[in-house]
Amino acid sequence: MATCAKCGRVSEQIAEVLSLCAECIRKADSKSLAMLKEIHTRSREEFGLPAAPPSNAEGIQCGLCQNRCRIPTSGRGYCGVRRNENGRLLGGNAEAATVSWYYDPLPTNCVADWVCPGGAGAGYPQWAYRRGAEQGYLNLAVFYQACTFNCLFCQNWHYRERSIKGDTHTARELAESVTADTSCVCFFGGDPTCQLPHALAASRLARKQNSQRILRICWETNGSMSPGLLDEMIELSLESGGCIKFDLKAMDANIHRALCGVDNQQTLDNFAAVARRIPDRPQPPLLVASTLLVPGYVDVAEVKAIASFIADLDPDIPYALLGFHGDFLMTDLPATSWTQAQSCLEAAKSAGLKCARLGNVHILRQRP
Ligand code: SF4
Ligand code: SF4
Ligand code: SF4
Ligand SMILES: [Zn+2]
Repeated sequence: MATCAKCGRVSEQIAEVLSLCAECIRKADSKSLAMLKEIHTRSREEFGLPAAPPSNAEGIQCGLCQNRCRIPTSGRGYCGVRRNENGRLLGGNAEAATVSWYYDPLPTNCVADWVCPGGAGAGYPQWAYRRGAEQGYLNLAVFYQACTFNCLFCQNWHYRERSIKGDTHTARELAESVTADTSCVCFFGGDPTCQLPHALAASRLARKQNSQRILRICWETNGSMSPGLLDEMIELSLESGGCIKFDLKAMDANIHRALCGVDNQQTLDNFAAVARRIPDRPQPPLLVASTLLVPGYVDVAEVKAIASFIADLDPDIPYALLGFHGDFLMTDLPATSWTQAQSCLEAAKSAGLKCARLGNVHILRQRP
């Protein structure tokens, strides 16, 4: 239960960390926007992460993502993993990325499991080993320990403790971890964006080493990468039967900034760019979208706007709505209720999406 500092409304759907309701965030003035910026700055201090993307005129420009950091000597980019060491831009490349990985037996709780080759046998026999779920095969889950966003509800926030100090591995080490029964590789995190040179190099090596069989390359991302890198991701997924899973967190720019600390325009542009490539391989789906239903903030209005955006591009793009549970700096918010989830699903379908569903329903609160 918290109070909105602007309108005075008291609700269990107002997060203490923001102390602003969704409506007041949508129409935020410069004072409220400054307050939101300060919240994000403070949230990054304990991890030693830069408060904002550095913009040092003498610094080296990193072009991996929308933040376009200009990193001063001995400094780090917003993600914490890319650094300027004596004029060289290091971190996240083929020689050393801050990453760990594990094997997940298929079918796994992948956000695309209801429409993909690994979870549903989509594209069998060209892209899947089995007609249904790929029992007996493994997903190699690759967790990059850094991110280009700063979501206050982050459910994997522990990566922040490793963005700067975590163990590093080469792209070759990762590629050689692809076993004979691995049928897909999923790059996630954190987010793969800030270490894409490593992920792309590992993918190419792994595909080369397994050129005679199915090995899908998939991505789960906030979609903030620069367009050139996105093109490389698309090619790898297209040629391997893999997919790109975009987490679309909010449509309203202020809500997105409040929740995630950064803008959403690059994500939306990139999503549209992937959608344009769908005709190159209609099945299995190249592009899958998801949205976390954060109570009080990612409400029916947000979902309706996101769903309309997706439907305008292609109404067949699969869209999963995911239940929220309190985490990181938003532990005081309740879990998503059934009522919110059902209303959001209705909104997504009414916006024209033919393939929308509720994901992790076990998390939803029974009480309205
Ligand atoms: S990946 Fe993005 S956040 Fe990280 S240093 Fe490069 S531009 Fe900055
Ligand atoms: S990694 Fe790709 S193929 Fe494997 S389960 Fe996830 S979406 Fe499906
Ligand atoms: S984009 Fe994902 S990993 Fe990155 S901060 Fe947001 S929720 Fe966490
Ligand atoms: Zn308010």
